[in-house]
Amino acid sequence: MAERAYSIEIKKEITAKKASELSQKGDLLDSKNFYCIDPNCAINLTCTNWNRRGKKYYFTPSSKDDLHIVGCTQISASEAKEQSKREAVGAKETISKNGLIKMTKSVNKVRTTIKATNAELSTNTGSSFSNLNIGKKAKEEYRHMYSIASFVDLFNDNDVDNNTQFVSIEKNKISLNTLFIQSSSTYVEWNATRIFFGKAKLKSISFDKIGLKSEKKNVVEIEFIDSKFPKIYSNITMLSKRATTSNILEYLDTDKYTTVYFRGKLLNSGNKFERFNDKVYKDLLFF
Ligand SMILES: [Zn+2]
Repeated sequence: MAERAYSIEIKKEITAKKASELSQKGDLLDSKNFYCIDPNCAINLTCTNWNRRGKKYYFTPSSKDDLHIVGCTQISASEAKEQSKREAVGAKETISKNGLIKMTKSVNKVRTTIKATNAELSTNTGSSFSNLNIGKKAKEEYRHMYSIASFVDLFNDNDVDNNTQFVSIEKNKISLNTLFIQSSSTYVEWNATRIFFGKAKLKSISFDKIGLKSEKKNVVEIEFIDSKFPKIYSNITMLSKRATTSNILEYLDTDKYTTVYFRGKLLNSGNKFERFNDKVYKDLLFF
């Protein structure tokens, strides 16, 4: 649910309440002629209470298969939570049909879809006992999953066996137990996408992109406790806007620890992380 959207008909940003008023006057004609104003998201939106008065006015995604992108600044915390829950529920359906979960980047301007897709996948598992299946193709369901919250939901779900449930990432198939790495781990495969997690401290620091001191403390330094992992840096404003990290101020510059999940690769020097998405804040979750 978004409060504002871009109107294709009048070519400007408008609130849902105003859009509804204009529809009652006949100045706006189509409830579906809107899109999300986050330029990275821009999914099609539909206005509620079209041609009539109502109590609450908002814009919802025009298709139930279209989600706001991970990190869209226009959705509420509860909607983002709902979204990752839907992703995880959908994932469990796919799992129950022996389908595959694909970890997918949330790339700007690419429509995020929760629809399962039937793909032609070879059923040849590589086992020499599966001669019957060699070369035979079967339809196997796979599902894209974007948000780190959905993976954390699956990992913490008692109905899912983390040893036998596999996730596909960049052509590799690994179990959930391989995907999630505790911060106390001493052995970590380098240059492989994983979700690192553990207790951490959040400290605000100030530096800008070229390393000069800036006035505002706008960067958080995340340090895992009793861990050899490198520190992670991200933008405080962006993190506080996003549902999975909006509790940042509860922990920032306090003695309290929070459980941090971070998705990315440990580079082979061992002293630097590389994020999975284009922005670090899309790959963080505070618990
Ligand atoms: Zn959006």
